[in-house]
Amino acid sequence: MFGIEPTQIEAVLLTHEHTDHTRGVRRFSTDHGLPVYGTRGTLALTPLEGLVTRTITAGSNIQLNGLTVKPFKVKHLAAEPVAYSISVGPMKVGIASDLGCVTPSVTQEMRGSDLMLVEANYDDAMLVDGDYPEFLKRAIRSDHGHLSNADAGALSLKSSSENTNLVVLVHLSKDNNTPEKAREAVETEVKRSRNRPRIEAVEHGGCGGPYRLA
Ligand SMILES: [Zn+2]
Ligand SMILES: [Zn+2]
Repeated sequence: MFGIEPTQIEAVLLTHEHTDHTRGVRRFSTDHGLPVYGTRGTLALTPLEGLVTRTITAGSNIQLNGLTVKPFKVKHLAAEPVAYSISVGPMKVGIASDLGCVTPSVTQEMRGSDLMLVEANYDDAMLVDGDYPEFLKRAIRSDHGHLSNADAGALSLKSSSENTNLVVLVHLSKDNNTPEKAREAVETEVKRSRNRPRIEAVEHGGCGGPYRLA
């Protein structure tokens, strides 16, 4: 699986309860005997019967086999959604997907990451001109929806530092984005800084990585 054996995985971290993130978690975690971590709100709304679950709280670090994992709050239409930063020694990975806006605290939590995974859900013009019903367009573009390519660019620009090597754009919409548009938009934005991380976009339904921290 993605160059990683299930036996190398020690835990599953949930960000929120939406089924595009939790479908298959119960079966996978049952098959491999993995504990599932999530906020109280996320765990309450995810079918996890029979599994070992651990409740986490935004802002409180947990230790997982030498990794320091910090869940932090994001705005998204879910019960208690979080994003994560994961640190080991001097290395840090920031993962922010499924959030409607880039708040100062999100920028702060992601800052200094060697590797960032950033949501780039939609190209604004494609969404606005596309076939989605108006209520859905509004929900996606709202502060509790998803990040646009421009938002992803702003977050990447504000959070990258000289040690940021790679920004991976994730959670691209099948209908309202293309990897090329996402990468171009974010590249244009990060060019404005001295830090020039490489930008990679993972196509809808695709899988990036595994990524090595050197
Ligand atoms: Zn999602
Ligand atoms: Zn979601």
